[in-house]
Amino acid sequence: MDCIFCQIIAGEIPADILYQDEVVIAFRDINPVAPVHLLIIPKKHIPSLTHLSKAELSLIGDMVNTANQLAKREGISKSGYRLAISCGEQGGQEVPHLHMHLVGGRQLAPTLG
Ligand code: AMP
Ligand code: ZN
Repeated sequence: MDCIFCQIIAGEIPADILYQDEVVIAFRDINPVAPVHLLIIPKKHIPSLTHLSKAELSLIGDMVNTANQLAKREGISKSGYRLAISCGEQGGQEVPHLHMHLVGGRQLAPTLG
């Protein structure tokens, strides 16, 4: 298995896992850009947003719900946070396994890109 996130799901490499269920898993980003920087990913290997089928769209809702719950747990629900999904080379995606960033705990820049 080449995918680093699939290796985390399989327990083959360590991660600071905060939540998991049958569908999603969430862990701390290894190179955080803010005091809170988590990754929420589907357990199914889907390379990117563009590979997401219509039947799999509910995964995005599961990921957002997990992110919202974790934002509460991390104490940033009221102060605010950003959810971001990069897709493809020009979208800045580095790991080819669909993932959502949850970033917060400080004032974020107002612009994307
Ligand atoms: P992206 O640029 O959207 O593909 O984001 C990939 C993210 O994965 C980056 O923020 C990396 O710091 C993070 N990352 C890469 N490898 C690991 C790992 N082994 N554990 C946790 N986060 C990782
Ligand atoms: Zn994968």
